[in-house]
Amino acid sequence: MSRSPARVLAALNAVRPPDQSSPVVGKAVVVGGSIAGMLAARVLSDHAESVVVVDRDDLHATGGRPGVPQGTQLHALLPGGFLLLEQLFPGFREQALAQGAVEAPPAARRNYLDGRLKVVVPDDADSLAGSRPLLESLIRQQVLRLPNVKTVTARATGLVFDGDVTSGVRCDVGGAAGVEHADLVVDAMGRSSRLSDWLAEAGWQRPALRRMTVDLNYATALFRRHEANPEHAVVLALHSPTRSVDVAGAAFFAIEDGRWMAMMAGYGENRPGRTAEDFVRRLREQFPPEFAVVADSELLGDVQTYRHADSRRRDFHALTRLPAALVSVGDAVASFNPVYGQGITAAALHAACLASYLRSRPDLGLPARHFFALQKVVVDAAWSISTSADLALPHVDGPYPRGYRLSSWVSRQIIAATVTDVATARRFNDVVSMRKHPSSLATPTVILNALLANRRAR
Ligand SMILES: Cc1cc2nc3c(=O)[nH]c(=O)nc-3n(C[C@H](O)[C@H](O)[C@H](O)COP(=O)(O)OP(=O)(O)OC[C@H]3O[C@@H](n4cnc5c(N)ncnc54)[C@H](O)[C@@H]3O)c2cc1C
Repeated sequence: MSRSPARVLAALNAVRPPDQSSPVVGKAVVVGGSIAGMLAARVLSDHAESVVVVDRDDLHATGGRPGVPQGTQLHALLPGGFLLLEQLFPGFREQALAQGAVEAPPAARRNYLDGRLKVVVPDDADSLAGSRPLLESLIRQQVLRLPNVKTVTARATGLVFDGDVTSGVRCDVGGAAGVEHADLVVDAMGRSSRLSDWLAEAGWQRPALRRMTVDLNYATALFRRHEANPEHAVVLALHSPTRSVDVAGAAFFAIEDGRWMAMMAGYGENRPGRTAEDFVRRLREQFPPEFAVVADSELLGDVQTYRHADSRRRDFHALTRLPAALVSVGDAVASFNPVYGQGITAAALHAACLASYLRSRPDLGLPARHFFALQKVVVDAAWSISTSADLALPHVDGPYPRGYRLSSWVSRQIIAATVTDVATARRFNDVVSMRKHPSSLATPTVILNALLANRRAR
């Protein structure tokens, strides 16, 4: 690829429809009908005659479901992800608001770092707040409305090949084995995807799996909210890893049905907020004053906990032997420390990679190398944001990238400057939200500006 990663990421942030109306794919099968799978199906509907989404859960049922155990936990939709959803589904905002999502413009968002309130970036992009089941069902509704997309409730058990070309997915439908034939298969089975095993079993290479320990403990609880339009729709309070606190951070969002969703997280042996009493006490005592509003509200139901062991990525782009007509998207390729809220936005960018690949009218008889090269840019960017922050955690011991000491010093300067300096905060938000590439923070002007802002603040 001749373009720089920064240019590739900028181009992916503007998803483009196909130039020609004739489909490049006959039948596409997407395995996994969660957020990444549905976003892939949305793009495929422009380029394929028909799209079948296979999931072990019934995707027409409402509410939470076993296939996404993380669904009970707080999910942030980053402004970058929200902009991509608006491009993929024009009118997404209105539909989301009509179904109870809460607007989160910059003025309704508050960010604290180590107890200090960060400056608000006035012209920052908007976002929405809602529960994960609401966000997922909004995306699903839009996709299932498309005339050439349908779902099949089945557990995928393997792939079928015709020589070097993937030609179908083996499925178990209520105990009966069958095959869903396909001209293109998309793996969207999440972080526990079995695609690597299936490739190895069929004699193909297994992609390298890279992991970084995170050992994160989440706890989420719901509270009753009385105001329809709260002054603060999204409040985050993070602690720097170097601070000796037992809570990594907390957040609360206004969500549908007149509720607050509040979350707190700790690393390693620290498991804050596992009981209702501990959760409410910490909200009231250990976080900025806005959190007391939630703590004083009525608790609805139990505290839901979740343990996230590691960030992981599978390097499909590096495979020398790869079957044709096969791609992988979403958490199946890379899943990160959820504290940074990147998953949905990364999945939307993977869908944009698929759109760009299919727009080039590729030969589906050859491996999708161009797709994986585009996706590598997205994964590298998200991985560098997530893991460079996590390497500062006391219990994380690598692997350290080259030049880590210098880059971590620069990061600390920039993050400190986001508390007081609008220009630095704007650039940083763009990168965290994946609208801009992390390299845009590593310029002499940005670093100097951050150093000066920190000196002024001192
Ligand atoms: C605690 C936590 C908090 C998070 N917070 C955020 C956040 O704030 N913001 C954010 O953007 N992201 C967040 N994420 C990440 C987010 O949940 C995912 O990135 C997002 O759901 C996209 O994942 P996915 O669609 O790739 O996979 P998943 O959502 O995991 O879905 C995988 C799908 O594949 C199906 N499946 C699996 N195997 C098979 C099979 N053999 N046959 C058929 N179907 C199968 C499953 O039923 C499921 O529907 C968080 C994650 C966790 C764990």
